[in-house]
Amino acid sequence: MYNIIIFGPPGSGKGTQSIKLAEKYGLTHISTGDIFRSEIKAKSPLGLRVQSIIENGELVSDDLLVDLLRSAMQKHPGTEGFLLDGYPRTIQQARDLEVLLTELNGGVNVVLALDVHDDELMERLLNRAQVEGRKDDTEEVISNRLNVYHSQTKPLMAHYDGQGKMKSVHGVGTIDEIFNRLCEKVDK
Ligand code: AMP
Repeated sequence: MYNIIIFGPPGSGKGTQSIKLAEKYGLTHISTGDIFRSEIKAKSPLGLRVQSIIENGELVSDDLLVDLLRSAMQKHPGTEGFLLDGYPRTIQQARDLEVLLTELNGGVNVVLALDVHDDELMERLLNRAQVEGRKDDTEEVISNRLNVYHSQTKPLMAHYDGQGKMKSVHGVGTIDEIFNRLCEKVDK
């Protein structure tokens, strides 16, 4: 198995890059944000439970995430590996992931991060709000999501850096430029 985690603040383009990376390396793309959005759209019990948390830009509880991830992974037995987009976001989630991957005889191979300045992110997200109409793309919720990213998710980078797995790239440029930077890191 080969497993990649990708970090990036909201608006960094991590969803777009994840799809391309998963395709190139033959990995199963799991986006926890996409799973939640489709559950909300379907008005499922899970969707109803997480809707207000997500619309306020807060994090869904670690317990709920571990179940969600386990069932997402179980849908792809025999995969070459996973490209994890939006998970883990807390230290506890990183520990849970370790356990889940060990159960599958795998581990985290490389951790990528897209580095983009907050001002640029705010501008991109406000534009996206007009195009896609995502409920969590208002100015107030965006700044909350950026704060959550800096306070809870960024410390994870130090965690993976300590394991020698962390590789950051400059996240401003064309989609292909950024994709090439990421691929260089994976191929090294
Ligand atoms: P994303 O599309 O990855 O930005 O995720 C959208 C929202 O879903 C986040 O702002 C959180 O509210 C929730 N979410 C997604 N992944 C996680 C996670 N790993 N832990 C907690 N909440 C999450």
